[in-house]
Amino acid sequence: MNSLFHQALQNPEKIAIVDQDNTYTYRSLTERARAIAAFLLNGKIDLNDSRVAYMVSPGFDYVSTQWGIWMAGGIAVPLCTSYPLPSLQYVIEDTGTEIILTGAEYEDLLAPYAVDPSIRFVRLSEGIPESDPFNLPTIDPNRGAMILYTSGTTSLPKGVLTTHAIIEAQISTLIIAWKWTSEDHTLCLLPLHHVHGIINVVSSALWAGATVEFMHPFDAKTLFQIFLEGKLNVFMAVPTIYFKLISEFESYSESDQRLLFSAMEKFRLMVSGSAALPVSVMEKWKSISGHYLLERYGMTEIGMAISNPYVGERRAGHIGQALPGVDVRLVDEQNAPIEPGQPGEIQIKGPSVFKEYWGKPEATAKSFTQDGWFKTGDIAVLDEGYFRILGRDSVDIIKSGGYKISALEIEEVLRKHPAIKDCAVVGMPNEEWGELISAVLVTDENLDLKLLSKWIREQIPAYKTPRHYLVLAELPRNAMGKVVKNELKALFLTVQQ
Ligand code: ATP
Ligand code: MG
Repeated sequence: MNSLFHQALQNPEKIAIVDQDNTYTYRSLTERARAIAAFLLNGKIDLNDSRVAYMVSPGFDYVSTQWGIWMAGGIAVPLCTSYPLPSLQYVIEDTGTEIILTGAEYEDLLAPYAVDPSIRFVRLSEGIPESDPFNLPTIDPNRGAMILYTSGTTSLPKGVLTTHAIIEAQISTLIIAWKWTSEDHTLCLLPLHHVHGIINVVSSALWAGATVEFMHPFDAKTLFQIFLEGKLNVFMAVPTIYFKLISEFESYSESDQRLLFSAMEKFRLMVSGSAALPVSVMEKWKSISGHYLLERYGMTEIGMAISNPYVGERRAGHIGQALPGVDVRLVDEQNAPIEPGQPGEIQIKGPSVFKEYWGKPEATAKSFTQDGWFKTGDIAVLDEGYFRILGRDSVDIIKSGGYKISALEIEEVLRKHPAIKDCAVVGMPNEEWGELISAVLVTDENLDLKLLSKWIREQIPAYKTPRHYLVLAELPRNAMGKVVKNELKALFLTVQQ
């Protein structure tokens, strides 16, 4: 990953990071990373692929720790800062972590590891000595660099191993497609144990020599104040964040809204991803900011693979086209190409595809075809040159009465109803139909479900209409803001009994 550090040589005095009103240059970032690497190496040649977990607040300490691990030849294992101990334990044990680095805020939470004889426990608060001029090892780009865990939306999170070369490929495609430059200034409010925050925002920006600010935790009001300062020009988030920002915006006076609109209009790029962007959110965001959000599709296993264009039409409800250097195909259940316009599984090939699921050779083997395509498990169709995602084969494609029905399409329709704030559609097992379409709703008011059924029958064919409804105060979401549909299915089962 040495190429990630090249900006420090080219542009050493440029501000790399803004963290709680402090600014850090590329020089200071690299120096700190070198000091951490030297400290970790302790005179040894390199870390020899040791798994080094770290739990550090997003910002300068975070990035320098991660870079330090890479410089020392370790495999970086970022720990989610909002996880409780059992979830952290799962990651630490699953990776066989040998070293844990912790920021001051997390020392108490991780205290059980301080007394674990099999783990070297490093408190960053105790200070890392300045590094001596020290020859860091040369790292083979095909060595393991990072283990990121999938979001755990469908089952237990899986550890995804990438190499330095794979990470470089994941970043390079975004630099080209989204035109990152050293003039850019972005803000990261996404968790850094996930590809969206760590690759798309932080690593891409730093690779390009841009400046990254950090916000932790997310707060809509403060974020809008930062927007008004006029420094940022690139912003990336998940649909739930855009949803929250829209409702914050709507609570402002007209004159404040005008100010904010003109500040946001000046951005060069605003991106959404990690889950389907509802068309209504895309349209509202356009009206409050002047921007068509650029929606893209990716996974922990592949980085980003498909994106709406930087220049050209960004089509609502669509994820766009294959990114440079990424091969995308749609296939049927036998891995054979589908007829044009028919739904098929998205399969991916290219240098940005991960190496393996950590410690799970069978799962790795099962996720590739014999000729080396990665099977995403996501179903899409190609609509006039734009991919449109229909959802995950396992939870979003409902098999009912001989039809395959996309839960995402029904959710889009439900969202058009004025009383529905949020919704999720799942298929519940049913002897007669295979699965029955069942919808969970979050509503403002007392919604008459009979009237809703009548309304929806006027919008879509009968075989696509939900047969069961459940009203909840909010939908269960994971750390990435994705709806955990398996929990909703379990809930339907309990109410049906
Ligand atoms: P797990 O694999 O543990 O169940 P996960 O699949 O949610 O969790 P991630 O790797 O974070 O873990 O997410 C990748 C998935 O997110 C994709 O497979 C896809 O289902 C979904 N996704 C990403 N971008 C989009 C998008 N723009 N529209 C719809 N779905 C998306
Ligand atoms: Mg997944």
